[in-house]
Amino acid sequence: MGMNLPSRDCVRIVVLLMFATAWSGCTGSRPILNRYEYSEIIMGVEGRIVLYAQDEPQARAAARAAFDRMAQLDAVLSDYRADSEAMRLSATSGGPPVRVSDDLFRIVLRAKEISNASDAAFDITVGPLVQLWRRARQTGTRPTQQDIDTAKLAVGAQHIFLNDESQTIQLLRPKMQLDFGGIGKGFAADEALVTLAHAGVTRCLIDLGGDIRVGDPPWGKSAWSIALPPRLHDGPPTIDLVQAAVATSGDTEQYVLIDGRRYSHIIDPRTGIALTNRVIVTVVAPDATTADALASAASVLGPESAMGLAIRFPGSRIWIGIASETNRRGGIGPDSTLPFPEPAR
Ligand code: ADP
Ligand code: MG
Repeated sequence: MGMNLPSRDCVRIVVLLMFATAWSGCTGSRPILNRYEYSEIIMGVEGRIVLYAQDEPQARAAARAAFDRMAQLDAVLSDYRADSEAMRLSATSGGPPVRVSDDLFRIVLRAKEISNASDAAFDITVGPLVQLWRRARQTGTRPTQQDIDTAKLAVGAQHIFLNDESQTIQLLRPKMQLDFGGIGKGFAADEALVTLAHAGVTRCLIDLGGDIRVGDPPWGKSAWSIALPPRLHDGPPTIDLVQAAVATSGDTEQYVLIDGRRYSHIIDPRTGIALTNRVIVTVVAPDATTADALASAASVLGPESAMGLAIRFPGSRIWIGIASETNRRGGIGPDSTLPFPEPAR
């Protein structure tokens, strides 16, 4: 508005503001919030909620509701429970459309969008390949090319048909298997944030085994300071976030050794082969669903192509590096990283 206030008026305004702040402190109209922290096992990982609330009963009730919401989503999405809604849907593949819950419809829709924007590097239809490689992990034998080719017949997000009027999903190929392992934790963290807000809590952090969603900052601070995993790429050691998310994908724990090669639990859906490129990715995005999925997508795409991904998702930033034997053991530093440009926000 371009106001030109004489300096005396400025001083008056500042003094008035100071009074206003002090006054509200006295009357308690902005009560001091306390920090509370809770943890529970959710989706096979330690789920942690840090929140600011007026008192313990409010904090506990909010966290309880958020954990219950995440458990409810696990019952929808889990591929370890034969009776989950996702598993029941997969069992109908090759058949007619099925009416699904709001949750399942929304996550499948978002997953399809991310598949399209990642050249199918991220793909929830990767299930048949995940099963193959899970068996490889148990037996220590690499799947045959024939097994891989057969599984690939049932892989591809284009085989998911969504009808938003009837809220139905049709899986067009037989033997399709939806797998939410690369997006479900992020989605659950986002939904937990919504549940906390309904319970009156907006200053919060939800951490599902490294998929982290934050809301408003801690009481008295301007942001959540998140420590990133050991510096295997050119990412910063900590990052300050408000109303955003961070996810990390790496080959640190989940891999299988076959004939001396490390195969990751992330699979390139286009080739059907588990990654061997030892990539470590950290993604910051506006929401955890996106961050979680982009971390898997960037792992598959590798440093050069992942750059395009960061540009296609506004507000996202991706750091990616290749782990070496040295930094796996000692956590020393990258032997080969490509720093990413920071895309315009
Ligand atoms: P986590 O955070 O649990 O370590 P990620 O978020 O990196 O795991 O996702 C890995 C999981 O996602 C795998 O265990 C598998 O279930 C599934 N997955 C593997 N490859 C892909 C892919 N290319 N696209 C989507 N999901 C995948
Ligand atoms: Mg993930």
